[in-house]
Amino acid sequence: MKTLSVVLCCMSAVVFCNLEGAEKLSKGTKLMLERNKKDAAKKKKPLLNAQTKVLKNGLHVVVVEDHQVPRVSVGVLYHVGSCDDPENLLGISHMLEHMFFHGSKKYPNVSETISTLGGSTNAFTSEDCTMYIEDCPSDAVDVVLLLEADRMANFFLHDDVVFQKERKAVFEERLMRVENPPLGIANEYITNALSPQHPYGREIIGMRHHILAYSREAVMEHYRKWYGPNNATLVVIGDVNAAEIFKKAENAFGGIKARPAVRRERVQNAITEGIQHTVQYCTDKVESEKVSLFYQAPHHKADGLDTCYALCIGLDALFEGVVCKFCRHFVDKKGLVFGMDCSYDVESWDPKPVVIQVSLVPGVQYKKFSQEFEKEIQKVVAHGLDPREFDRAKKSCITDMVHLATDGHQKIRMMLACLALGLSIDDIEKTHDRLEAVTLEQTNAVLKRVFAKEPVAIVRLCPEATAK
Ligand SMILES: [Zn+2]
Repeated sequence: MKTLSVVLCCMSAVVFCNLEGAEKLSKGTKLMLERNKKDAAKKKKPLLNAQTKVLKNGLHVVVVEDHQVPRVSVGVLYHVGSCDDPENLLGISHMLEHMFFHGSKKYPNVSETISTLGGSTNAFTSEDCTMYIEDCPSDAVDVVLLLEADRMANFFLHDDVVFQKERKAVFEERLMRVENPPLGIANEYITNALSPQHPYGREIIGMRHHILAYSREAVMEHYRKWYGPNNATLVVIGDVNAAEIFKKAENAFGGIKARPAVRRERVQNAITEGIQHTVQYCTDKVESEKVSLFYQAPHHKADGLDTCYALCIGLDALFEGVVCKFCRHFVDKKGLVFGMDCSYDVESWDPKPVVIQVSLVPGVQYKKFSQEFEKEIQKVVAHGLDPREFDRAKKSCITDMVHLATDGHQKIRMMLACLALGLSIDDIEKTHDRLEAVTLEQTNAVLKRVFAKEPVAIVRLCPEATAK
């Protein structure tokens, strides 16, 4: 098991919709990516060589030329996410994302239009942003830009039947993502407990009564408020000429009027130092116990990206892959767990915790695992990582980052995610150098900072018969 979502990937808490054509790589593509990884690792800089321009209406345009294959990825990022939803209509950003596929009178079915061009489309709503991505043959770029500009300017919900159908789909999605999975409700509870005031404590998709309260007018109001060109970023990556794309973007988007500026209000949580939440949920839906441990983590705004990257490397060394320190100890040597996962969102707008998840081997008591985990983590706090463990983890993080920066589809998601969360193009270009510059001492210091304290929350999902 490995889902360490660290370097340049904020997607662990995202509602993904419309997943057609996503993540399927042919053997040929995989071989090419491997080659690209090696080439990129050798050349190293500049990472993307992005070019930028801001139109008069405030739309930011970013272009990255990449002529390896005749494809283009177009992404439009709106700086609005579930944290900006009104209190009585949580999840409406996500509902708007669904409705945006029914675009405008000119493009009533965006997925169909993009498919006709030989491409695929996808969209994501996170707590902090909403993004739309099209992957197409490069000669389709003109149509894609016109389509995105048209729905930015002329989105209109004229069909109530489509609206009701999508609202039902969102309701079903909530059941699938939150209410039906064994850990779903427990996670919803703990998310809320960890952020009682901050909107990170809410589900991106909203609750049942919110979804039932959506109306066409409410969705339109949300669109009018947040979907102006001055609250958006257009990113084009692929086999294109940057100067031409800037001209085309001006033609397509330049006539759209800026809207009144919006401010994002974020309430901070009250200080919860010393409070530990524990949730135990017993169910016959699982055969072995699953444990999630939440630790307070540094955040790039307060602590700087260097500290966050040092932690990424430390978490990789401890929890990532079959050779990681804790996998070797807890899986191979002690036989206490089947595997370990770790997630840490470097680019969240506000701070989020590190989350470690394990599945206990049947028959292993939580107490036994917990004592062993505490003993081993305190050894790390006291003595730090072995230099070889650190070197392996650093290489692994750099390889992951280079992979993101060389694969077209991943690259645009990474770019949009970083820009959405307040990082600059310069920050993105320097990621490789920053990771290279992290020292063992920095990593040990941040691991000590995170793990010297008790976890702020523990969630246990137990089989009913063995819960103790
Ligand atoms: Zn959805």
